[in-house]
Amino acid sequence: MGTPSGWRLIVLRAKGERIADIEYQGAKRMSAVPQDRRSPPFANGAKDGAPSSSFGERRWGEGKSDGASLTGPGQASRRTPKRRVVDCEGMGNGFDISLERLTGIGVPAVGGAVDGERPPLKGGVNAPGVGASSGNRAGMGRSVAAPLHGQTQDAGGRGTFYLETFGCQMNEHDSEKVAGVLLARGYKQVESVEAASVILYNTCSIREKAAQKVFSRLGEYRFSQKQGQIIGVLGCLAQQEGEDIFARAPWVSLVCGSASYRKLPQLIAELEAGNRRVTGLETDTNETFETEMTRRDNPWRAYLTIIEGCDKACSYCVVPFTRGPERSRASSSILEEVRQLADMGYTEVQLLGQTVNSYADPGARKMRFSELLVAVAAVPGIRRVRFATSHPRDFGKDIVDAMEAVPAICEHVHLPVQSGSTTMLRAMARTYTREDYLEKIALLRAAKREISLTTDIIVGFPGETEKDFEETLGLLDAAQFDGAFSFKYSPRPNTPSLRMKDAVPEEEKSRRLAILLEKQREIQRARNERLVGETFEVLVEGESRREQQWSGRTSSNRVVNFTSREEESLGDYVQVKVTAATPNSLVGEAVGG
Ligand code: SF4
Repeated sequence: MGTPSGWRLIVLRAKGERIADIEYQGAKRMSAVPQDRRSPPFANGAKDGAPSSSFGERRWGEGKSDGASLTGPGQASRRTPKRRVVDCEGMGNGFDISLERLTGIGVPAVGGAVDGERPPLKGGVNAPGVGASSGNRAGMGRSVAAPLHGQTQDAGGRGTFYLETFGCQMNEHDSEKVAGVLLARGYKQVESVEAASVILYNTCSIREKAAQKVFSRLGEYRFSQKQGQIIGVLGCLAQQEGEDIFARAPWVSLVCGSASYRKLPQLIAELEAGNRRVTGLETDTNETFETEMTRRDNPWRAYLTIIEGCDKACSYCVVPFTRGPERSRASSSILEEVRQLADMGYTEVQLLGQTVNSYADPGARKMRFSELLVAVAAVPGIRRVRFATSHPRDFGKDIVDAMEAVPAICEHVHLPVQSGSTTMLRAMARTYTREDYLEKIALLRAAKREISLTTDIIVGFPGETEKDFEETLGLLDAAQFDGAFSFKYSPRPNTPSLRMKDAVPEEEKSRRLAILLEKQREIQRARNERLVGETFEVLVEGESRREQQWSGRTSSNRVVNFTSREEESLGDYVQVKVTAATPNSLVGEAVGG
């Protein structure tokens, strides 16, 4: 199954001028972009010859956040357009880029602000959305306490909301569900804070910089909040700081953690009824955050959270505190949603969880995680199944066996190690030793199908000696990771490591990170160069501004930038022969088209 038949890509300039309107039917592009207007600048604002931002995936607890360095699969080349247009400011002019499913069900989006309001959602359950607000700051902080006006209320008096997301894939998917919850109650999503009656920030607190960024964003409302405008903080920072947020930013009136998102309409209604401040901060719930409607932002890959929270209690991590204990979603419910996604035309799904492979089916079928992978892959229409993030302790041979047996389960595992030193792993409370981890890798490397392996690494954890660090470098040699999210240790509130002695100085952390990155880069270069001459199936996810150039991902999650003599369709699958390699991506040409 290729591209869902019937799509329209529309690109508008800020003033409403339509500069591209491309209609796709199945694998064919029916109408072309004018030559001089081909491939408008996307979210990253990259111009030919200039680097653009990655569209690599963001991780949570286990992984990258602000200040982290990403190498490896997941890092896109400069030609890869970001799928979510998030910041038009750097481009000098705004663009609205939308991709409409012409069948009328859904409207996956890559959209920036134009007129401040999204078109109404057409679909039912799991309907893809229109536009994306992640990171979009258009219109922020300019007017001082101006009253709300008509645009913030629809004809029926319902409110409008602006939602911005920080952090990992879990947060991004939570935001899709938050939007679904509010849209289902009649709220309209808008692309500018000025047009919103409710402004929501779905936040990350995994590292200090991420939390600072949120407070800095909130600070912009000190003088610019409109009368009656509700400003709310969601996510990990909300859970971590709780009501203290009201003291730091008194203009905030709603604080809500991920376990309470279902209550958001009720909390907003309480504020609209005159309550000054409301909170939803419970974590002792058995509920997973299931919604009747999810507004999906990614046109090609649908995310499903199958397990919430974490029971692992790593000594540096806020996730168990901010997201609560592990709660899994019943396999019957997951499979039903996958079937709906397949009906909508999605061919790739990604199962999410802080420790996704710790999944424990609460339903009658009591499926193991590996069985769930197989069942999801068996849903007609599903062609790729991804999962992240795995915890080494719960990673067993049954998962490798499932990957070997079922080609639709993508051959990529993200297995955070954090350190190559058993002493450090103990201090981190990671529940495995260096040797245990290497045994897991041996399982993966012994598979008949080559499985790409990526990881997360922390340098400069309290007490990390030069010897400990060298053991981590040695582990890179032994493991031969295909990619690594590496970052400097950042102390977080409410974590045991906060009280640990022997902090490593910042300069030393930076030195170690630089050494580690350089070593890992060379490993990736060598690993990718082995693939030159091979042919892979690539899901087309982006079109370059250059003629006949495209980008996409292999099943192993490698980014491939390739040329094709055909007019490829976004969302289609093509065979690509690799002709060159860099540490972070492959270069190739489509074959057999
Ligand atoms: S506590 Fe849980 S989410 Fe945090 S790093 Fe450990 S396993 Fe990952």
